[in-house]
Amino acid sequence: MPILESELIRQIRRRADRSSGPVRIGIGDDCAVIRPRGGEDIVVTTDFSIEGVHFRRDWHPPESVGHRCLARALSDIAAMGAQPMACFLSLALAKSTPQKWVDGFLRGFLKLAERYSCTLAGGDTSSSLSGIVADVMVLGSLPSGKAVLRSGAKVGDTVYVTGSLGGAAAGLQRLQEQKVPQPARKSLRGMTGSQHFFPEPRIAMGEFLRQNKLAHAMIDISDGLSTDLNHVCEESRVGAMINSTLLPIAKHATLEHALHGGEDYELLFTASPKAKVPVEMAGVPITEIGWVTRGRGVYITDLTSKPKRLRPRGWEHFRKS
Ligand SMILES: [Mg+2]
Repeated sequence: MPILESELIRQIRRRADRSSGPVRIGIGDDCAVIRPRGGEDIVVTTDFSIEGVHFRRDWHPPESVGHRCLARALSDIAAMGAQPMACFLSLALAKSTPQKWVDGFLRGFLKLAERYSCTLAGGDTSSSLSGIVADVMVLGSLPSGKAVLRSGAKVGDTVYVTGSLGGAAAGLQRLQEQKVPQPARKSLRGMTGSQHFFPEPRIAMGEFLRQNKLAHAMIDISDGLSTDLNHVCEESRVGAMINSTLLPIAKHATLEHALHGGEDYELLFTASPKAKVPVEMAGVPITEIGWVTRGRGVYITDLTSKPKRLRPRGWEHFRKS
């Protein structure tokens, strides 16, 4: 590690939120103490971010790595319709990690945590023999029994997605093909690649859909539409038909990116065809992309040719290239 572990913990503690809201005791004791309100359920998710697997130091600025490792977990909280409460960060740093990198990482992480009132309440630090590892846990809360599950889709439901799809995969592909020279990387962050470098978890959207009882089933699109919609269908014991002409494909992305590219962190949900689902929320579009069918399997059609099976090819598919 670049600095002593005790110094790293001191730095994190100095920069982390003070104990607030449901976090009664944060960093500094043996355990955090968290007090949910009466009548609430706690939802918990954990996510690994591993150098060389989930990020590369030569591609991703440290702020992006910090942001993304928390955004991935927050996106899972959004997919339940929950409100974030607290997060925990376990960080293993390679000996060669510069202090500047640690600073940038914490800046990206804590900025996002603060935006969603998600107190950094603890974690662990260690040295790593090869590469950086960040393990993030997030706790969220919602009224008892009201979590929106993957298993709630009903035959005849309409399938919706938030935002646009494929932007993160298109950004990743541009990095892989080295189409973006080093000095231009900054502009990539601001434009086409923002979905890749700084994905926005759809917390408010998830809560809105839960509060208004609009979503029967919900998942966040972390592995790609084809994979994640298949998860919903399996858990709900239904099938689905996607109309490819309706897909909100991100700028610079292809249909392939939109179907199989992961890391968009948009929400996918199903709702009764009678539900009054808004067409957008706070500038983020909500698009109808298909419907839930009897039987099993996800199919795709452009309404002119015979429907084709849409097999789960997300994430793995793009990792190979
Ligand atoms: Mg998820």
